[in-house]
Amino acid sequence: MSLEDVRAKMTHLNLPYTAARLAELVDGAVRDQQGPLSFFEQVLSLELSQREERRIAVSLKLSGLPKGMQLDTFDFMFQPAVEKTRVDFLASGEFVRQKENVLFFGPPGVGKTHLAVGLGARAVELGYSVIYYTVEELLYRLKRHAGTPVGSQRRQAYVKNALVVLDELGYQVLDRHETHLFFQFVSARYLKGSTILTSNRSVRDWVQVFAGDEMATTAILDRLFHRAHLFSIDGRSYRLREFDKLMREAER
Ligand code: ADP
Ligand code: MG
Repeated sequence: MSLEDVRAKMTHLNLPYTAARLAELVDGAVRDQQGPLSFFEQVLSLELSQREERRIAVSLKLSGLPKGMQLDTFDFMFQPAVEKTRVDFLASGEFVRQKENVLFFGPPGVGKTHLAVGLGARAVELGYSVIYYTVEELLYRLKRHAGTPVGSQRRQAYVKNALVVLDELGYQVLDRHETHLFFQFVSARYLKGSTILTSNRSVRDWVQVFAGDEMATTAILDRLFHRAHLFSIDGRSYRLREFDKLMREAER
């Protein structure tokens, strides 16, 4: 039996990562006098961890989550309004399992998107299906399917994913039709899946965002806030931190 034969069988069994490294692995086993069970275990573990890495990379890509915003790159010292222990708890993914929501409020630059995306990426690692949209992108998609009730759009990503990360509510004022579609979206996900939402406008201003429609706004708030984790980040803008420093120096 040649190395080539074994490699061909491994490829056939869909073990491409370890198949490509077979010679190297066998040499290592001989050198280290590795027992057969230990060798077999090593091959399987390597293939499994590679598969897992690939799954995460592909899912992250499909999710549309922006790159470079992980929880471990968030500076909690800079933003004391955000309690690390609360974020750590959410990072366990339990809120996705419980179909709860997470809402981030605060002015621009305080890290709302960073935290929302970081939690989304964490959920991907944990094996949940995740999709990221800005409110603008979501509305675009909802409008394309406006003929069918959102509840029966089961195959659409904004319905079927375990977690929807919805960024930037408040930058754009919705008209009545968009408000209605947004309400349908929130209803469709209510108790069926998790949503993370970021907003630069406080809840008091939401009625203005939602076409001045008080009834729709109340209905949306009702569903979103039921079983929700709230974060109000009233701190400094991270984007402007260098600018702040310059201003302070200039004042001296
Ligand atoms: P927001 O969504 O609240 O407007 P972002 O999350 O987009 O703000 O943050 C603006 C930029 O600053 C992003 O590049 C983000 O990664 C970074 N940032 C914000 N807060 C922090 C922080 N506490 N630690 C590290 N980077 C941060
Ligand atoms: Mg943002």
